[in-house]
Amino acid sequence: MIRPNIARMAGYVPGEQPRDGDIVKLNTNESPYSPTPMVLDALRAAITGDRLRKYPDPSGIAFRRTAARVLGVQPDMILIGNGSDDILTIITRAFVPEGGLMVAPTPSYILYRSLAEIQGALFQSVAFTTDWQLPRPWPLPAADLTLVPNPNSPSGTHLDRNALDQLVPTLDGRPLVIDEAYVDFADENALPLVECPGVMVTRTLSKSYALAGMRFGYAVADAAIVHELLKVKDSYNCDALSLVAAEAALADQNYLAETVRRIRVTRSRLMTALEPLGFDVTPSAANFVWCRHRTLPHRPIYDALKQRRILIRYMDYPGYGDGLRITVGSDAEIDLLLTTLREVL
Ligand SMILES: *Cc1c(COP(=O)(O)O)cnc(C)c1O
Repeated sequence: MIRPNIARMAGYVPGEQPRDGDIVKLNTNESPYSPTPMVLDALRAAITGDRLRKYPDPSGIAFRRTAARVLGVQPDMILIGNGSDDILTIITRAFVPEGGLMVAPTPSYILYRSLAEIQGALFQSVAFTTDWQLPRPWPLPAADLTLVPNPNSPSGTHLDRNALDQLVPTLDGRPLVIDEAYVDFADENALPLVECPGVMVTRTLSKSYALAGMRFGYAVADAAIVHELLKVKDSYNCDALSLVAAEAALADQNYLAETVRRIRVTRSRLMTALEPLGFDVTPSAANFVWCRHRTLPHRPIYDALKQRRILIRYMDYPGYGDGLRITVGSDAEIDLLLTTLREVL
């Protein structure tokens, strides 16, 4: 009695989340730093007060006001989500009919295909060019929903504004998600494009804000789009604690800037050190690095590191091939990774 599209699908498999503490975890792009102390203060106040007895604010207006101020948009242009995966689910349900078409470049975020499968929609991927650009012209402009992660995972590459400016008119107002999960680590973002018809920008607090355990994401879009998306989301999709934590995190932009600066410094150190070990390293605008070894197979490298309690991500994409994605951890974690890599290679 399960819908055939559900019975057929394999189900999205998230990265490993080992529960033992002594693993150096460089596989799912969490921040190596703590969230701002303001988050802990806000959480403490929320727990001590009356917040947990009552339902949370369904639209999260306090968060939306703060986010609107930080981002320079209006509060009614912001949609809150239980992680940005929840935002992507809401957008899919709102825009994509059964039998509809979802399109995203590949290799990129594997969840997009799972969302299409759940929805009973078709999913088509469009290969990035060899230097991680979008093919021109964009071959599938008529999709019900197009998703472009920027910076992209696993490559860490960033499409510049010119590339997006060219894509947007091709879609002629049909829905486009620019998934900016990693944008705080890049030099520019696409927020101004939400002025264009159909363009939505999604963000998460899981990576740059160090709140992966809290589950909070949001979308920025035209107020008329947000108005429709609000009808689709669960009434209380964000709990009271994640709302106060997210608001406190966004309010402390200085802390964000400092942790991002540090991660970017470690990132370039990691990229530089991988080259002489025989890796081709893709220039990264995110908090991870995608690399492929010039002579050795990738799976044994992943296995050898795991055996030594360092977890990175082995990825294999049909039609593209495999490689290793390494989260930019703390300096100490990256030092240990590099030392261990030198031993195992
Ligand atoms: C991590 C990630 C997300 C979602 O993260 P949440 O933890 O659900 O907020 C979305 N898109 C991409 C490309 C990601 O890597």
